[in-house]
Amino acid sequence: MNKIALHWQILLALFLGVVFGILLPTHTSWIKWIGDLFLRGLNMVVIPLVISSIVVGILNVGNSANLGRLGIKAILFFLSSTLIATLTGLVFVDLFTPGSQVRLTTTVQSSSMGTHQNSFIDMLVNIIPFNIFSDLATGSDRLLGIIFFSILFGIFLSKEEVRFRDNLANLFEVFFRIMMKITGLVISFSPFGVFALIAVQFSHYTGNSEQMIAVAGGLGTYLLTIIGSLLFHNFVTLSLVLFFIVRVNPFKHLLYMISPLLMSFSSSSSSATLPLTLQDVEKKDGVSNRITSFVIPLGTAINRNGTALFECGAAVFVAQAYGIELSFLQQTLLVATTLLASVGAAGIPMAAFVMMSVILDSVNIPKEGLGLLLAVDRILDMFRTATNVYGNTCAAVFVAKTENEVLNI
Ligand code: ASP
Repeated sequence: MNKIALHWQILLALFLGVVFGILLPTHTSWIKWIGDLFLRGLNMVVIPLVISSIVVGILNVGNSANLGRLGIKAILFFLSSTLIATLTGLVFVDLFTPGSQVRLTTTVQSSSMGTHQNSFIDMLVNIIPFNIFSDLATGSDRLLGIIFFSILFGIFLSKEEVRFRDNLANLFEVFFRIMMKITGLVISFSPFGVFALIAVQFSHYTGNSEQMIAVAGGLGTYLLTIIGSLLFHNFVTLSLVLFFIVRVNPFKHLLYMISPLLMSFSSSSSSATLPLTLQDVEKKDGVSNRITSFVIPLGTAINRNGTALFECGAAVFVAQAYGIELSFLQQTLLVATTLLASVGAAGIPMAAFVMMSVILDSVNIPKEGLGLLLAVDRILDMFRTATNVYGNTCAAVFVAKTENEVLNI
């Protein structure tokens, strides 16, 4: 199934799902299992995908540890730009409240919705897994602990003696490649998932055209809010950083990055765009090979501004749609979870969506809202992948300028 075709298949499935849900609301029980199957497929891949992606990413960092100063600068830029991106997503969705137009119904008891953290201390304590094996087995609402353990594992593996490290590192590399392939397989069934999940969701609205229009309006506002916040992050935040902190011309940089941006936009894969990004940052911006060949691959492995922004914004959107008020503490937990989850997202199409079910779980937001997110995910994936790639190019420029390199921008 090629990628362009998948866009159209999802669009067609969306349309058919809406029609089915409205015309045959009592028959959606026949197809509900298709949506359930698709969600199970996503759940099946997410934990192994996150673990292998984090360990492989950290190994990349570890292997470059001898680059010391460069490594620290790059990682600081990655962390702070991803944190700012996450907060941008949160603020935009809090401001425009796209979810408040939608009223989703759920089978989950409203008293059990929202997370149960009582205090900031509780939240921190919960990051450390009580028992990593039971967390891995029971899974998805313990995402933060699993990510924490994977980061530790990756760090200590990268510090092992070469003869031990390489065996396990190769194993994780192969494991990651296989998980990406299995994820690709699950994603190729997304048109069926969209069809069934949307049909079930819309069957609740039969005879209530007002609510149907509200859902469509809410989805449209959600789409525009996330796209707006991604554009804001690229064109305002990152441009200001380039202009004021490292004194380069952000417009020129943007112009030089057109090819990787278009490639990432159309492929929805920052990994597939990597060769082009490497080439243009070096040839057009004039960043040295020493920095490009270090910062860009590392960023492609662990730095995803667009993914983090999307995950945080999408989770708040679903919470709003269920009428869940997230407290300051819950929003803090969400920011931390999505920030770290973005590190564990692979550079492939729809990787962020694959993670959404565990992110929702980890803050106890019902997962039925995934159908709505899925309906418009392909469009958002294009914008967030371009943001991921652009964030990495800015990181390379930032590191180069702080190393006093003379650039063409
Ligand atoms: N498609 C994105 C990338 O390749 C990941 C995601 O946000 O789904 O960077």
